[in-house]
Amino acid sequence: MRKDYEKTRPKTPPDGPWMDGESTPRDAARFSIPLRPIFFAVMFDDVQLRYRYRLYPTPGQRVALARAFGCARVVFNDGLRARQAAHAAGLPYIGDTDLQKQVITRAKLTPERAWLGEVSSVVLVQALADLHVAYRNFFASLAGERKGPEIAAPRFRSRKDVRQSVRLTRNGFRVRPGGRLRVAKVGEIKVRWSRPLPSEPSSVTVVRDAAGRYFASFVVEVEDEPLPAGGREVGVDLGLADFAVLSDGTKISNPRWLRSRERKLKRAQQALSRTQKGSRNRGKAARRVAKAHARAADARREFHHQLSSWLVRDNQAVYVETLSVKGLARTRQARGVHDAGWAAFVRMLEYKAARHGRTVAKVARDFPSTQLCSQCGRRDGPKPLRVRAWACPGCGARHDRDHNAARNVLHEGRRLTSSTVAAGCTPAQGHAETPNACGEPVRPPFAVARFVEPGTRQKPEAA
Ligand SMILES: [Zn+2]
Repeated sequence: MRKDYEKTRPKTPPDGPWMDGESTPRDAARFSIPLRPIFFAVMFDDVQLRYRYRLYPTPGQRVALARAFGCARVVFNDGLRARQAAHAAGLPYIGDTDLQKQVITRAKLTPERAWLGEVSSVVLVQALADLHVAYRNFFASLAGERKGPEIAAPRFRSRKDVRQSVRLTRNGFRVRPGGRLRVAKVGEIKVRWSRPLPSEPSSVTVVRDAAGRYFASFVVEVEDEPLPAGGREVGVDLGLADFAVLSDGTKISNPRWLRSRERKLKRAQQALSRTQKGSRNRGKAARRVAKAHARAADARREFHHQLSSWLVRDNQAVYVETLSVKGLARTRQARGVHDAGWAAFVRMLEYKAARHGRTVAKVARDFPSTQLCSQCGRRDGPKPLRVRAWACPGCGARHDRDHNAARNVLHEGRRLTSSTVAAGCTPAQGHAETPNACGEPVRPPFAVARFVEPGTRQKPEAA
């Protein structure tokens, strides 16, 4: 019964139009906006995706980029400091235009900030735009206009932050026909074009990551590519033992190449912990950990891309529950790692579904997927995690814990989407009307996610 992911993988690898651009999990979470439940079928428009490529700057270009990272950070921090000072002095909030005049235009004329003129002003203006967005999100969160966790006030950026970046809009960069990326006041940087850009990018973020690698992340508008309707639907239970279990019984574990990357990361971390603090070996070991970390993260993202593409292509609707490990004693750190991985995966499912006219619905976090019998709907209470299989006292059906949960997620997902249909929304194609298997009271409608890129659609609803 148990299949490894490698075996269940589609024969044709999901590439070409399926290798969608990268999402940036952290940014997407920061900028995503709550929407009323509507099916994607009624809100088709173009999707903005990120396409990321490795950059190979020359030593001189690295110096210029470091200067740009530094100046962007200083402008961001100056702006934050000015607003904090105004707030502390009881003065009104400094508007975006006034702040720009203060910390960029006028600052350049002072001896302490004259060096801001050495980098492209596009970089400085965009750094300040980041600050504006951070403030707007913070205010919206304070006013209760944002769903999800509370957003903290903007924080100062540090020279020691592992990820340094600058963002440039169209007037600050150009993709050269010869294949190099021209960045204002940095030069023409060598790019490894791992796949073609689908259209002209509207902005680019140049990033230096913890492992010292450089990337260009382009924001590109891509047209929706609705797929022919299919009737299949699937429930997905994300967990620890297997990455995912599907309602048809397929178990998908992390592929071997990802496990080996994660083992290497663990070994590098152990080696680091054995070194003396402040020693030269410690510095080397820390860089090795950063590299292993970056490689494991890349591998994980690649796996998420493959699996999400496959699920969206083969199913008209995907229903997903992300917290099947409630109550398991885990360290906070380990839990964070898993939650972040699942969240990134679910976001990929969502934006791919949006592009291809498919439905993704998230089942509520408190849905008792392991308490219900997926056969007869009987609810017989919570079960400790060590109970992997049981027989239903109502109908006698034998259940595998995760498979049963995935089937319950499928039933619940169908119920949720069909109750939205009843409320007057356009149904997605291929939805079977299924009776509620468990007889539970109606839950709040699921959230439909929408992918919003930072730096491009900054005032979706707040404006
Ligand atoms: Zn039963």
